[in-house]
Amino acid sequence: MREIISTFSDFILDTLFPIRCLQCKKEGNWICRACASNIHIQTEHVCPICERSTTPNGKTCLDCKKKSALDGIIPATNYQDPTVSKAIHHFKYRFIADLHVELGGLLISALQKSDTPIPDIIIPIPLHTRRLRWRGFNQSFLLASQVAQKLLPAIEIKLEENILIRKRYTCPQMEIKDYQSRKQNLAGAFHCSDANAVKNKIILLIDDVATTGSTIFECAKVLKKAGAKEVYAAVIARQEVGGRE
Ligand SMILES: [Zn+2]
Ligand SMILES: [Zn+2]
Repeated sequence: MREIISTFSDFILDTLFPIRCLQCKKEGNWICRACASNIHIQTEHVCPICERSTTPNGKTCLDCKKKSALDGIIPATNYQDPTVSKAIHHFKYRFIADLHVELGGLLISALQKSDTPIPDIIIPIPLHTRRLRWRGFNQSFLLASQVAQKLLPAIEIKLEENILIRKRYTCPQMEIKDYQSRKQNLAGAFHCSDANAVKNKIILLIDDVATTGSTIFECAKVLKKAGAKEVYAAVIARQEVGGRE
């Protein structure tokens, strides 16, 4: 009965407020096929740390490798793209959880176009429970589940959402402008609860956007300390410092 009621209420909602493309307003999907095909998937990447050296597959350049645990970041597309920025905003701040399908699709396209090694495990960047209660879902988990299910044809990659734990609440990174303070804000914020599960594994971290990347760098550090072999990350886009993360 409950199912019938919820189907009926979905029907009423869809009739009153049909889903429209965020960009062109065409009815049917949050991002229509035409607007989705206009989104440019990045195939040329730079080192995620210095952002100067062009590197294959967003790998960390040799110089930066000495000071970072992260092996590379693939930003799927560009935050300046109006469809992308609107979709990210609606996903995170208007709580349109369904957008993870379209946005996850961008991550999958970018990963398929790169030669990033196939991960043994996919891990979403965890949210603190306070933040999770506020949003009602962890956007990175929804994106990561899409990637885990659809990156490879017919094989589902293992998704681990409880290995990387956010130990304490940190100020939203968007509220902190300078790099050093962002780094300090996150120091000790994460921990790996199961070193055996990550030992010698190739890990792909998934997040929605990265600004300075400090959250991802910190998570990579924790996972490498726990024994991970390689840690890569994929995000929808990199956002300029000072933007809303
Ligand atoms: Zn459209
Ligand atoms: Zn570099």
